[in-house]
Amino acid sequence: MIWLLFLLTLDPRYHTFDEVAYELDSIANQYSDITKLDTLGYTDIDNIPILALKVSDNVMVEEDEPAILYIGCHHAEEILGIEICMYMIGALMNEYDTDSAITYWVNNREIWFVPLMNPDGHSVVMSHLDTTWRDNKADNNNSGSFELEYDGVDLNRNYDFYWSEGGSSDPSSEFYRGPYAFSEPETRAIRDLALIQNFVFCNTYHSARYGLTEVVYYPWRHAGGYSPDYPHIRVIADTMSKRLIRDNGIGHYTALVGQGLDGTARNWLYGVCGVFTYCIEVSTTTIPPGGMVDDICERNLPGAYYLLERVSGSGITGCINDSTTGEALSAEVIVHGYYDADLPPRRSDTTYGRFCRILKPGIYDIEIRKRGYVPTYRENTVVADGQMTELNVSLVRTGGEQPAPSPQKKIKISPNPSTNAVIIQLDQESDFSSLTIYDVLGRMVTDIENPSGQITWRCRDADNREVSEGIYWLVARSDQIAVQKIVLIKR
Ligand SMILES: [Zn+2]
Repeated sequence: MIWLLFLLTLDPRYHTFDEVAYELDSIANQYSDITKLDTLGYTDIDNIPILALKVSDNVMVEEDEPAILYIGCHHAEEILGIEICMYMIGALMNEYDTDSAITYWVNNREIWFVPLMNPDGHSVVMSHLDTTWRDNKADNNNSGSFELEYDGVDLNRNYDFYWSEGGSSDPSSEFYRGPYAFSEPETRAIRDLALIQNFVFCNTYHSARYGLTEVVYYPWRHAGGYSPDYPHIRVIADTMSKRLIRDNGIGHYTALVGQGLDGTARNWLYGVCGVFTYCIEVSTTTIPPGGMVDDICERNLPGAYYLLERVSGSGITGCINDSTTGEALSAEVIVHGYYDADLPPRRSDTTYGRFCRILKPGIYDIEIRKRGYVPTYRENTVVADGQMTELNVSLVRTGGEQPAPSPQKKIKISPNPSTNAVIIQLDQESDFSSLTIYDVLGRMVTDIENPSGQITWRCRDADNREVSEGIYWLVARSDQIAVQKIVLIKR
């Protein structure tokens, strides 16, 4: 009987979903000045919230601070990632105001955690239905009940970047990539967060299971080539891995370039959003004995902390604005030699016009461009070791048009992000002569003459074709120009 109980219970050191939710909620209450608990979405099958904790001072404000993301438990049985995230959150709380480095990071970074990304799949493991379960609980055969043989999507093959080339198309495979990219609410939750936050770094925690153990993977090697930022991404993986001591106490983790392209979080976050993303394969077994967990977490802190430190190391950062109005601009920032025109442009953010490019020390040619503005070059920009080079750029409009400060406040867009219809609410005092919607490449999608009051855009182009998901720009013209971002997400 005792033996049976032992078999049926994972070591209680491992968090259940309820324990994660309770602890995050307690922390958000106790440390309300520096934490904010968010729900990014809900799982399809058990309707469990996908929780995120933001840690920063002035936590309710989107400050002009670099953002870093930590994710645990893409794969249900790889539960060490949950423990590392929760342990790190605890350490930040305990040592805020006492440890000078931690206090500085909390005050000057926006630190995001999604400790338990896959709560449905995690419940399969924790309830001992199958302690080797990898996927979520997607009902692949629409039977209305959960079946281990058919159901579940491998969340780390479900992202929309070379999606069709990764995992398996067979729903009964544990590597099933899903019926289409971003079919799962768990991956959409990460996508929506990443599209709004300009993350500089992400660590996504997995556990050893297949292949090599105690490894830091980074993007990418593919078809004989490497990711455009390869040397810069790699040096960080090398440094981080040296800070991660192996379970046996001898030597450290190994940094390896990820081979091939597929719909993993790592490839999507880097390829689409430009986030330097590392996949940490923790420990040498998937679920080590509970007595080892604290030690494993403690040995992972130096790697996680390194990202918080490195974000202000060598690189180029600055804000881009309109030379006439001073308004922040989302512009494309190109580092020549480390650029791939096939990837979405790396842009400054919309709120502050802030960009942050992590680079090895050296000399770089920078180009800043935005439709409607004169492209601007900063050749021979020096990046020194251990510090960010400041590069603030004011872009000049083409055509000599000199608009007054943009009346952004006269337009409200909701919901944003939106799924299939966008409500554009114009202020009564607005006198726009036209509204035009552009895609991210600056191509016109549709326009609306003499707009007034409340307008619904049904996410269709001028020929009434449904547009694809992504980021769109609404440009409203009168004697002034107002620009608003629309994020479109397909369900
Ligand atoms: Zn994994």
